[in-house]
Amino acid sequence: MKTIVVTGGAGFLGSHLCDVLIKENKVICVDNFFTGNEKNIEHLKKNPNFTMMNHDIIDPLAIEENIDQIYNLACPASPVHYQFNAIRTIKANVLGTINMLGLAKKHNARMLQASTSEVYGDPKEHPQKESYWGNVNPIGIRACYDEGKRCAETLCFDYHRQHKLDIRVVRIFNTYGPRMARNDGRVVSNFISQALADKDITIYGDGKQTRSFCYVADLINGMVAMMNQVKAIGPVNLGNPDEFTILELAEKIIHLTGSKSKPINKELHAADPIQRKPDISLAKKHLNWEPKIELEEGLKHTIEYFKNLT
Ligand code: NAD
Ligand code: UDP
Repeated sequence: MKTIVVTGGAGFLGSHLCDVLIKENKVICVDNFFTGNEKNIEHLKKNPNFTMMNHDIIDPLAIEENIDQIYNLACPASPVHYQFNAIRTIKANVLGTINMLGLAKKHNARMLQASTSEVYGDPKEHPQKESYWGNVNPIGIRACYDEGKRCAETLCFDYHRQHKLDIRVVRIFNTYGPRMARNDGRVVSNFISQALADKDITIYGDGKQTRSFCYVADLINGMVAMMNQVKAIGPVNLGNPDEFTILELAEKIIHLTGSKSKPINKELHAADPIQRKPDISLAKKHLNWEPKIELEEGLKHTIEYFKNLT
């Protein structure tokens, strides 16, 4: 049995990751509950192999118990949340990642960094391969997140080169599913909430921009596979290569919820990437991984979750 730290473990992805890891390991969940939710981990608290530490990774963290692996997910992920306090977002990515790499170094543990497709910015290459260096505005309103994540990747590779630290880096593309926060402003949670309330579906811009949506269970399988193999340290893209326009997503959600909602156009936010789709050849080759759950099926599970929210 390994002892595994999951930072951001009370959040959307982190709590699903804890659910998978706890089956065979001890899990220490580290979270400051900025965007995380007690409800996401409530069911884990009675498990003697689960420990919750209320801690901000911007501050150094000491853990006495021997640690084998660290999954570093702590960082607000939706544009609404990461722009709420941009300086804290940068700090979580830079200081927080340094602190977690330091913890990994002390314990000689392997660390997996949750990076993001946002490191590709508004990509000039389509689909995005890991070899693409990206098109990111360093002073834009998304920079606290995407430049922060780019710096976190740099730190992982410098700790690897300088201290021989065992690292893994995954670049996660848009992921959705149960436990997404209803108020996080991301497109899937917004559209489902609006459709269930028969409210207008807010399409930013003309809705022709694209995204590729990965169901959470697929993504978590990919992350665990990445952590537990020795062929590649990354970065490796994890995401679903099926690409949809935002308008297509709205139509699917209206259809699946049987909603009376109608799409309406709103102003497009600055720096909104026009298209995004992962090339997952590396994940297929090194992890033998590819997503299995199609958008309609994943949306059905997610809609059920949102319906049952009180
Ligand atoms: P989330 O906001 O639900 O989870 C983030 C968690 O980190 C929350 O529980 C939050 O309270 C915690 N947190 C934030 N700042 C912290 C800090 N300074 N110290 C301790 N805890 C802190 O987001 P998510 O969708 O679960 O994303 C998890 C990770 O995956 C993030 O690093 C994000 O950048 C990355 N990611 C997610 C997606 C996606 O589509 N969901 C895509 C790309 C990358
Ligand atoms: N979007 C939209 N309406 C919404 C929320 C988002 O049209 O209510 C669009 C947004 O402009 C972007 C896409 O959906 O083009 C994905 O947005 P999200 O915030 O989910 O993720 P990201 O932009 O980080 O990929």
